[in-house]
Amino acid sequence: MKKMTLMNPGPVNVTDRVRDAQLRGDLCHREPEFSDLMGSIRKKLLQAFDIEKEYSAILITGSGTAALEMAVSSCLTPDRSMLVIQNGVYGNRIGKMADVYRMSKHIINYNWGEIPRLEEVEQALKENSSIEVIAMVHHETTTGLLNPLPEIALLAKQYDKRLVVDCISSLGGDKINFGQYPIDFAVGTANKCIHGLPGVSFVLHRKKDLSRIKDIPARSVYFDLAEHLKVQEQGDTLFTPAIQAHYALNAALEELLEETVDRRIERYRKIAEGLRKGFKEIGLDFLIPESHRSNCLTALKLPNGLSYDWLHDKLKKNGFIIYAGQGLFNKKIFRIANMGNIEDEKFDFCLKVLKECVTKIRE
Ligand SMILES: *Cc1c(COP(=O)(O)O)cnc(C)c1O
Repeated sequence: MKKMTLMNPGPVNVTDRVRDAQLRGDLCHREPEFSDLMGSIRKKLLQAFDIEKEYSAILITGSGTAALEMAVSSCLTPDRSMLVIQNGVYGNRIGKMADVYRMSKHIINYNWGEIPRLEEVEQALKENSSIEVIAMVHHETTTGLLNPLPEIALLAKQYDKRLVVDCISSLGGDKINFGQYPIDFAVGTANKCIHGLPGVSFVLHRKKDLSRIKDIPARSVYFDLAEHLKVQEQGDTLFTPAIQAHYALNAALEELLEETVDRRIERYRKIAEGLRKGFKEIGLDFLIPESHRSNCLTALKLPNGLSYDWLHDKLKKNGFIIYAGQGLFNKKIFRIANMGNIEDEKFDFCLKVLKECVTKIRE
C-alpha cells in the first residue's frame, strides 16, 4: 500500500518505533508481563499531563467512543441529571449516550461552530438543582472549534458540579490546565494527538470523585468505570484487551514524555499557524474565527464549483488524506488536521497541491 500522509483527525501517522512496538510478541493478558505493560501506560499517561497525585488512568479496549461511553455511563447518580453542551457531532454523541442510558438530561444546543455562552450555562445550573454533571467536548472536531473549557470548568467548580470532558482530539495537542481547573473525567484516545494506534482509549479520573462513583449502580457490563479501575489497580483487566495496541501506546507515551506535552502543543500550534497562512494565501475561507481555532484541525469552506470528492481524490493521488464535513456540513466544508507524526515538508507539499486544485477551479 502506498504510504499516505493522514491529515484526517485520527487515526494518525505514527513513528516506526510505535509501529514496530506492536511486534513485541504474543502475550496473555493474565500474565505479569501484561500487568507491567498496563501499569506502565497508566503511569505514563498521568506523568505526561503532570497529574500523578490527583488522577487515576483507566484504560479500555475500543475507539475513543468506548472511553467516552465508559465515562458518561458511569458518572451520574440515579435521580440526578446531566447538563450536556452541544455544538457539533461529538457533543450530540454525549447527548445520545445519555438517552440510551435513560439519564435525565438538560441540553444546551448551539449551531455547529457556535461558541457556547457562559451565561446560558450558568442559568441552566441555577435553574436546575438536579444537575450533578456537566458534559462537554473540548475540541469539537466537527468544526475545529475549541470550546471554552477553562470558563466552564470554573462554573462547574463554583456550582459544585462534576465535569466530564471529551478531550479525545485535544489531549496532547491543545493546552488543558489540569492544575488550574478541575476536570473529573477527561476522556482521551491513543490514536490522535498521543500518536498511538487505534484500539485503546482511556479516562483520566479525579481521585477525589472515586467514593461517589463507587456507589453508582452499574449501567453497563463492558463500560463500568469503577469496576475497570478496581481491577486495573490490582494489575488485572476485566476483559481481553487489544494487547498490540497497548504495546504501541506505551511506545507513543515514551515519545510523548521525551518530547513533553507542552512542547508537542507548541509544535502543533506552529504547524497549524503555517498551514493557515498557506490556506489564507490560497484564498480559502475559514469556518471558525482565529481566536477559537484548535491547534489540531482547520475547517475550510469548500470554494464554489469545487467538489469535495474531486478535491479528496486529487490530494489522495498526491499522497494526502483529507476529511469531509459531517452531517450539516457535508459538501460545505472540508477539514485538514495536523495530528500525528508528519514531516514538515509534507505540509508545504500539501499546500502546493491544494493551491493547484483551487486555482484550477478559478480558471
Ligand atoms: C475522534 C473523536 C471521538 C471518538 O471517535 P472514535 O471513532 O470512537 O475514536 C470522540 N470525540 C471527539 C471530539 C473526537 O474527535
